[in-house]
Amino acid sequence: MITTRFAPSPTGHIHVGNLRTALMNYLIARKAGGTFILRIDDTDPERSKEEYVDAVKQDLEWLGLHWDKVERQSTRLDHYAAAADTLRTNGRFYEAFETPVELDLKRKKQLNMGKPPVYDRAALALSEVERDALRAERGQGVWRFKLDQARIEWTDGILGDISIDAASVSDPVLIRQDGQVLYTIASVVDDMEMGVTDVVRGSDHVTNTATQIQIIEALGGTAPRFAHHSLLTGPQGEALSKRLGTLALRDLRARGVEPMALLSLMARLGSSDPVELRTEMADLIDGFDIERFGSAPTKFDEADLFPLTGRYLQSLPMAAVQTKIDVLGVPADMAEPFWLVMRDNIETLHDLDAWWALCRDGAEPVIDAEDEAFLAEALTMLPQAPFSADTWGTWTAAVKEATGRKGRGLFMPLRKALTGQAHGPDMAALMPLLQVIKAR
Ligand code: GLU
Repeated sequence: MITTRFAPSPTGHIHVGNLRTALMNYLIARKAGGTFILRIDDTDPERSKEEYVDAVKQDLEWLGLHWDKVERQSTRLDHYAAAADTLRTNGRFYEAFETPVELDLKRKKQLNMGKPPVYDRAALALSEVERDALRAERGQGVWRFKLDQARIEWTDGILGDISIDAASVSDPVLIRQDGQVLYTIASVVDDMEMGVTDVVRGSDHVTNTATQIQIIEALGGTAPRFAHHSLLTGPQGEALSKRLGTLALRDLRARGVEPMALLSLMARLGSSDPVELRTEMADLIDGFDIERFGSAPTKFDEADLFPLTGRYLQSLPMAAVQTKIDVLGVPADMAEPFWLVMRDNIETLHDLDAWWALCRDGAEPVIDAEDEAFLAEALTMLPQAPFSADTWGTWTAAVKEATGRKGRGLFMPLRKALTGQAHGPDMAALMPLLQVIKAR
């Protein structure tokens, strides 16, 4: 039985980077008929906010990434305390009292000597008496996990065979001085107790994974399968980390990006498969294979979301956008033709606003100087609204006859006069939707 989880910390809105993690874990679970857990990593009471918990849920629901279960780390502190006790009993947990300033100094010294800045385990050498004295002087220490200084190896679902020398990694702090349990142990305890079989996360977690594998083993568990996806960069390969704040899912949603467009892109970006628009989640699930993803940084260009959104919208019948059409106030008898004409000319549903305004109120005409006389004559020949599906053909034939113009020289000035732009829907189909012509 496959179980995966998406484990955001509710300290901000989720963005495209988080979405990649969520989506991969979701698709793995669904493809295997397994369980997808939404785990809220809220052990930090100061930074975790309830509004972000709600926002994460709304964003996932908007995308259709429905979870089977929600778990919250803040309700499971007793489990983490029990695991800490086990590590203490097994001799794998020790208290250390260095201040951040002291640690920083140690690191600088090591770097100056050309050594890796790994914690020197000075606290391990403290006697009981020294520890008591330090505790009396400085209060509680932090609790570090004593790594077994061997190589830590696993076969990563994306990165392949990984081998990390534990001696090059500092013994991780699992409990802070103020008693707060840190993610590294909480996550391990949850993964073990919730039966998580597959963990997909960003490659910034690779070192965590190494230490977590040892913690799992020290607690008597078996490590899940791990896969670390590459981090997203901007279109030129530039770091995206600072811009991720502006790529929050709710902002993309507000800009009109459609969930299936976003999911179709993210399910393929960074893999050897081409990006293909999928309109059904089931197709995304069927077509997903984590092994097809590579370790190179993945370029993400938000501009790609808009043509995909446009193509998604083209596939929709009017019923799927009824609410939007109603909000615009399109009369019932025009709703269907309006949608069928416009869906090929929009990237997002927001673009309908301008098209409807054009139909309802008319467009400011664009008239080139050399077309003034031509248009004056042509517009006198245009019948009064309402127009029919034949209006354009009949009218342009008559104008051609009267003026001798043909082809682009005939049609383009008329289009620009009626719609104020050089591009847009097929004019014959558009005419019945035009209620006002400002040009005359
Ligand atoms: N809360 C962690 C994060 O957001 C979870 C990482 C993991 O998947 O284990 O980075």
